[in-house]
Amino acid sequence: MSAVTGLTFGGKTWTPEFAQEIDKDKCIGCGRCYKACGYNVLTLKALDEEGEFVDDEDDDEIERKVMVVANKDNCIGCKACSRICPKNCYTHAALNN
Ligand code: SF4
Ligand code: SF4
Repeated sequence: MSAVTGLTFGGKTWTPEFAQEIDKDKCIGCGRCYKACGYNVLTLKALDEEGEFVDDEDDDEIERKVMVVANKDNCIGCKACSRICPKNCYTHAALNN
């Protein structure tokens, strides 16, 4: 099994590494990664005091918001999100064929 690779404009190979997970205990919800991503992969989600995700965003129990990989299928594996993240929250993985 080898990793799926792409080509740069100059014809060099590169290996996309796709966003898998964001560590919700490290994320400060700063939104830097959201701005860096042009592929509609990420979204902010609310957590309650216990650190559990809250379904109703109007709920009073919201403690803080963190980024999540909401649309994994849209990711192109550029890693712009993790390069800009100040808290090293991301896990990425290459795709095998
Ligand atoms: S790897 Fe690129 S496309 Fe995927 S979530 Fe990060 S910035 Fe968006
Ligand atoms: S850049 Fe890092 S800390 Fe900021 S919202 Fe994204 S994952 Fe969270």
